[in-house]
Amino acid sequence: MNVLVVNAGSSSLKYQLLDTETREIATKGNCERIGLDRGIFTHTDPSGEKVVEDALFPDHKAAIDRVLKTLDAEGHTFEGIGHRIVQGGWYFDDSALVTDDVMAKILEVAPLAPLHNYGEAAAIDACRARYPEIPNVAVFDTSFHMSMPEVAYTYALPKDVCEKYHIRKYGAHGTSHRYEWMVAKEMLGDFCHRLLSCHLGNGASLCAIEDGVCRDTTMGLTPLDGLMMGTRCGSIDPATVCYLQREGGYTYDEVDEMMNKQSGLLAVSGISSDARDIRNGANHGDENCLLAFDMFAYKAMLQAASMIASMAGVDTITFTAGIGENDWTIRQAFCECFDWLGVRIDRERNQAAVGAGPQVISAAGSPVTVMVIPTDEEYMIALDVKRLVEGA
Ligand code: ADP
Repeated sequence: MNVLVVNAGSSSLKYQLLDTETREIATKGNCERIGLDRGIFTHTDPSGEKVVEDALFPDHKAAIDRVLKTLDAEGHTFEGIGHRIVQGGWYFDDSALVTDDVMAKILEVAPLAPLHNYGEAAAIDACRARYPEIPNVAVFDTSFHMSMPEVAYTYALPKDVCEKYHIRKYGAHGTSHRYEWMVAKEMLGDFCHRLLSCHLGNGASLCAIEDGVCRDTTMGLTPLDGLMMGTRCGSIDPATVCYLQREGGYTYDEVDEMMNKQSGLLAVSGISSDARDIRNGANHGDENCLLAFDMFAYKAMLQAASMIASMAGVDTITFTAGIGENDWTIRQAFCECFDWLGVRIDRERNQAAVGAGPQVISAAGSPVTVMVIPTDEEYMIALDVKRLVEGA
């Protein structure tokens, strides 16, 4: 099935047209700087050339309209459209064929992810209006985590407050973690039951998956929780928020901005949120960069241990996303922390496993299989579209 996958972020909208049988990508691109001046439209034209054009995208509707117009002009066709939705709230434990009721729910839960859900809903509206006969499927970052047990997702706050504001752990990166499970299971079969999935990109999260079911994950009510990330602080004492407002005079918005955009690797290294820059700095002996890397690995190790505890063990560890797929030194440092669990990495395989597809990097005889599985959220979304459209 030919599926158009739309991934609308807060200020960008990426798209990809792919065939679920062959996994061939007919075209893909990105609308950047939505809501700002000097937008950029990137598109792969029919000859396979990447075209970059100036554009103006006042909102997400303008961006998706530009994409659909371009696809139409080039004669592309598709039988379904899949939309990545960041927050499915308490409603969705699976992807869903879009109806008016589904749209209402996406908007109802939008206050939990205001920078994402509204734009994503606008993109769906535009697709439905332009192609009323083509089904749309909403694929939620959170739905995979809805299987977490109550003990894992409940916050120890007053019950009435949690109920009124729907406060709980929702997690994120669910589509990526689900993909990691799917590929690991395909490759390892009966040897894979308790999987620790490490999605280490600019945004980063861990997920404990037992026989395909999420047991726990490190992101919480929002993606700010859990690991230290590119610009997010991850888990800190929540009283820090109140303290900064009370003693520092920071407003709510300033604290929000600080913790989401000015913290993490960027804050500790003092130079960049990009792991490559920090690696470079560390290689030149920059102490702040060395600390940033040590903290990243240390916090990942501590939280991984809690994920493993939630499953009472682990037989498979997978690494994915920008850092997880490319930085063998982080993988090695992380795995060495689990020597006591019997994790044995094959150093040569680990160093060679860059840009080479899914593969095992643990040493022969290691009781825990360690793998690098490059994530493919677009393919996972397209598979959901096929499943739901064909099953309808
Ligand atoms: P997101 O999708 O969350 O924006 P990515 O999955 O693209 O992020 O990951 C971005 C991170 O991956 C950045 O910190 C970047 O430095 C890191 N990264 C990308 N390529 C490499 C590489 N070759 N070596 C080390 N880190 C890399």
